[in-house]
Amino acid sequence: MVKDIDWSSLGFGYVKTDYRYVSNFKNGKWDDGALITDETVTLHESAGVLQYAQTCFEGMKAYRTVDGKVVCFRPDLNAQRMADTCERLEMAVFPKDRFIDAVEKVVKANLDFVPPYGSGASLYLRPYMFGSNAVIGVKPAEEFQFRIFATPVGPYFKGGVKPISLRVPDFDRAAPRGTGHIKAGLNYAMSLHPIVDAHNNGFNENMYLDSKTRTKVEETGGANIIFVTKDNTVVTPKSDTILPSITRRSLMYVAEHYLGLKAEEREVSYTEVKEFKECALCGTAAVLSPVGRVVNGNEEIVFGMDAMGEITKKLYDTLTGIQMGRIEAPEGWIKVIS
Ligand SMILES: *Cc1c(COP(=O)(O)O)cnc(C)c1O
Repeated sequence: MVKDIDWSSLGFGYVKTDYRYVSNFKNGKWDDGALITDETVTLHESAGVLQYAQTCFEGMKAYRTVDGKVVCFRPDLNAQRMADTCERLEMAVFPKDRFIDAVEKVVKANLDFVPPYGSGASLYLRPYMFGSNAVIGVKPAEEFQFRIFATPVGPYFKGGVKPISLRVPDFDRAAPRGTGHIKAGLNYAMSLHPIVDAHNNGFNENMYLDSKTRTKVEETGGANIIFVTKDNTVVTPKSDTILPSITRRSLMYVAEHYLGLKAEEREVSYTEVKEFKECALCGTAAVLSPVGRVVNGNEEIVFGMDAMGEITKKLYDTLTGIQMGRIEAPEGWIKVIS
């Protein structure tokens, strides 16, 4: 029985579901893993995650498609990205096939929380891992816990699409240089002050520039950026210090192979931003969220504050169409779970 939840008014907040998946790494190997009902975690007071922030995560969604299936979008890429993040953070890697299997188990165990097709809501999945044994000298943990929980989230654009405002902040996105491409709480912890400061100044998010030269566009705190040129080329910043967004990679493919547009991943200098016709943020949460203006000191670039740009809208409709089963997906993009 699908749960009695008002899907349309659901926000992006934690709602407890019935089951979560847990597996522990100890003595050099992962245990078998299991679904459990307890949503709390009990930790040693000196656990690596608490002292030295050794933790990372992923974010993905399960959807109900037009023909009533429950699917996940490209979970193999989340598995790979988490493995890459774990390597950089000196954490044990949770095997990719087991990651996908665990995703499947969690979705199946919480099927009643997968929102109906057409509601705009979805079941958000949060795989994550942390160092669990006691460390006091600065070194990687030796024991880790991998978990996935699920929580239903509402439609991103309630009451219509509203373009957002960005500002170019004085802050760098990732604190230690070289960790910008990993999906980890440490980058988010360092982004909290800049985002609160942005909000206090009337902006929705920060458009970070590269920390080395402060001339090239990187990304925002939790989303990559795409631009559209006046002749309809889709451009996205190439940088090895930003997070390789799965949504962005998928949109670039859609631009080229579904919409017949030119798609370029290349360095984007900030001085170029005013030449673009459209700008949008991309990530799992919103897919695409249009940017209406960007402010850098006294300079303001306006893309338009009333609607999604024409090409942004086509990209959005095509990718969400693929995810919801209305448009045929490229081979391997859709994992059917039920
Ligand atoms: C998760 C995340 C994104 C978006 O990636 P998706 O795979 O598209 O959800 C972008 N930037 C950062 C910093 C992120 O953590």
